[in-house]
Amino acid sequence: MKISKIEHLGFAVPSIEEALPYYENILGFTCYNIETVEDQKVKTAFLKVGEVKIELLEPTSPDSPIAKFLEKRGPGFHHIAYAVEDGVSNALEQVEEAGIRLIDKAPRKGAEGLNIAFLHPKTTQGILTELCEK
Ligand code: ZN
Repeated sequence: MKISKIEHLGFAVPSIEEALPYYENILGFTCYNIETVEDQKVKTAFLKVGEVKIELLEPTSPDSPIAKFLEKRGPGFHHIAYAVEDGVSNALEQVEEAGIRLIDKAPRKGAEGLNIAFLHPKTTQGILTELCEK
């Protein structure tokens, strides 16, 4: 697998509306996209920091994975997303062979039209890891 860059960092927040003033007014970033990913029961907001993006994740339902995360851990760092150049399905095959546990057995559609898949933090040194491609 060939990783070209950190695509984004995902931060869990109870409310995007309440989190945005910090990122926009204090840090000076601009939110350029807000969208809901229905199958993940999550609303996302994207901000650009140079080459890297920050993805704020707000649950849209109490049974959203983000709602469960917030309940257990509170707001904060949720996942890192790496851009892979040679395809997410290809990367999944390789890492699974190497003993990494997959959350997504196959790529699915994430925010911003990316193909994404998550790797389980139990096998990725404690960091929930997303692989993505355009
Ligand atoms: Zn993400």
